[in-house]
Amino acid sequence: MDIFEKCYQYTQAKDLIKEGFYPYFLPLDESEGTEVKFEGQRLIMCGSNNYLGLTTHPKVKKAAKDAIERYGTSCTGSRFLNGSLALHERLEKELAEFVSKENSLIFSTGMQVNLGTISALTGRSDVIILDKDDHASIVDGARLGYGKIERFRHNDIEHLEKVLQSIPENLGKLIVVDGVFSMGGDLADLPAILPLAKKYSARIMVDDAHGMGVTGKGHGTAAQFGVEDEVDLIMSTFSKSFASLGGFIAGDEDIIDYIKHKARSLIFSASIPAANTAAALAALDIIRKEPELADRVNAIAEKMREELKRMGFNVGESVTPIVPVIIGDDMRTFQTWKGLFEKGVFVNPVISPAVPQGMQLLRTSYMATHTNEQIDRVLEIFHSVGKTLGVI
Ligand code: PMP
Repeated sequence: MDIFEKCYQYTQAKDLIKEGFYPYFLPLDESEGTEVKFEGQRLIMCGSNNYLGLTTHPKVKKAAKDAIERYGTSCTGSRFLNGSLALHERLEKELAEFVSKENSLIFSTGMQVNLGTISALTGRSDVIILDKDDHASIVDGARLGYGKIERFRHNDIEHLEKVLQSIPENLGKLIVVDGVFSMGGDLADLPAILPLAKKYSARIMVDDAHGMGVTGKGHGTAAQFGVEDEVDLIMSTFSKSFASLGGFIAGDEDIIDYIKHKARSLIFSASIPAANTAAALAALDIIRKEPELADRVNAIAEKMREELKRMGFNVGESVTPIVPVIIGDDMRTFQTWKGLFEKGVFVNPVISPAVPQGMQLLRTSYMATHTNEQIDRVLEIFHSVGKTLGVI
């Protein structure tokens, strides 16, 4: 059997290209934050994770440029050996303070944080308990470890308790949830999950990739609920509000020290370049000093939810700058995506297995730097495409 046979048989992407409905890997010619250019056409970007619009902020860009001048373009090695900079440690210290934890550790991507942290913490006598809507990087981190994986229905606290009850007392337990769920834009029910974690002696880790910078006045979802002290580990990424690339895990000193010496995705991979580190530091400074950016993006999302709902779209349970527009069928999702794209709005179509069948959706997300005119135009286009295609 030729191991490549499955590749020769894989035609799904080619078929979509032929039909003119292929929405992935679109190479943009220009991107200035709220607007992008694709094959000469300008589109309003409503599909990025640049929630605060900081990728084009002069201070963030300058910080990255200055860092390249001072440190060069790469650290050419792992944090463990030759790739640690004082700049990395400065960012770790500032991030820990920002999320009210003793220490933090930065990795080269958020995916690597989850792979390294979860696998390092879970041995054969441990169980990892995941929400069914958790991000793929959490699932993969759990798979990399030697622990058993249990899953509970999305934000279903009764089901979580049943799962916890079924786990023998002598096993170690780690509950991992997204703070803000990346497709639905809803929040983990931390006030209900935390007492259960305590009752069943489980530790809890929150992946706040989409919350940091946006929820809790920028300090994240645990801060929004006022429960930073009760959440054992907080992770986030720099690839969203922090306008960079990389990620971090924050928690008690001893736990961070253990992860630092055991996480293979940290030890066996080159460290985050100085330019990305400096950009994240500059973004963190802006997030701390300008909480009005988080207010602005949340207000835009609220307006989008209200208006889209009024038009007859189903926007699910979102309470954050991620606003799903649930279409419920593959082909109609691609058609609506294409209609919006042709009229100048960039959104992301999401189908199974990323969401369950029947929940196929357009993932829309907003930026603090979107202008009111852009938002009005997006609403106008949604209305026109929705009517033409009979979605509303
Ligand atoms: N966690 C969540 C919830 C995410 O959405 C993502 C990225 N989309 C990641 C982790 C991984 O982050 P990164 O892009 O930094 O690898």
